[in-house]
Amino acid sequence: MEEVVIIGAGPCGLSAAIELQRAGLRPVVLEKECVVHSIYLYPTYMQFFSTPELLEIGGYPFSTPNDKPTRIEALNYYRNVAARGGLDIRSYQEVTGLEPNPANGTFRLTVRGRTGSESKLEARNVVIATGYFDRPNLLGIPGSSFRR
Ligand SMILES: Cc1cc2nc3c(=O)[nH]c(=O)nc-3n(C[C@H](O)[C@H](O)[C@H](O)COP(=O)(O)OP(=O)(O)OC[C@H]3O[C@@H](n4cnc5c(N)ncnc54)[C@H](O)[C@@H]3O)c2cc1C
Repeated sequence: MEEVVIIGAGPCGLSAAIELQRAGLRPVVLEKECVVHSIYLYPTYMQFFSTPELLEIGGYPFSTPNDKPTRIEALNYYRNVAARGGLDIRSYQEVTGLEPNPANGTFRLTVRGRTGSESKLEARNVVIATGYFDRPNLLGIPGSSFRR
């Protein structure tokens, strides 16, 4: 039985994991792709519209020589924060089902691994941090693509 499961290793899921860990819990982060997958999917040379201090999580400074960080800087920043925070992140684990167990107030998660195998996980608490920026609306025309 896990104390807390966080679904999604985007900036919000990572931030929640860091704070919960600091509060003495041992959160498990389940991520269906790689860490900060939404940012991984950004256009290669994209520059954020936010300034770096607004993108910081967990009190870790985000330093960049630019006024606004680029995609690669953000990828480096969040990946480093995840590593330095010593978080228990389980990548390529997609949560495909979440059911409450009214008998004891816990949750049962269905998790699909990279090979398609399914497993179950029990958790006392669940944080849903699935965002939505990793789900582009494709135009379905030649030239529109989706990196996986
Ligand atoms: C081109 C572009 C530019 C942007 N620029 C900015 C900016 O300048 N400033 C700004 O604040 N925001 C910007 N955004 C928005 C930014 O992406 C979001 O603010 C940020 O990523 C939201 O973080 P999040 O953790 O809520 O969600 P996400 O980053 O979307 O993270 C959600 C994570 O959950 C995972 N996930 C989803 N479903 C499941 C599941 N069932 N099981 C397991 N894992 C799952 C996803 O793979 C993903 O890694 C931009 C977005 C785009 C597309």
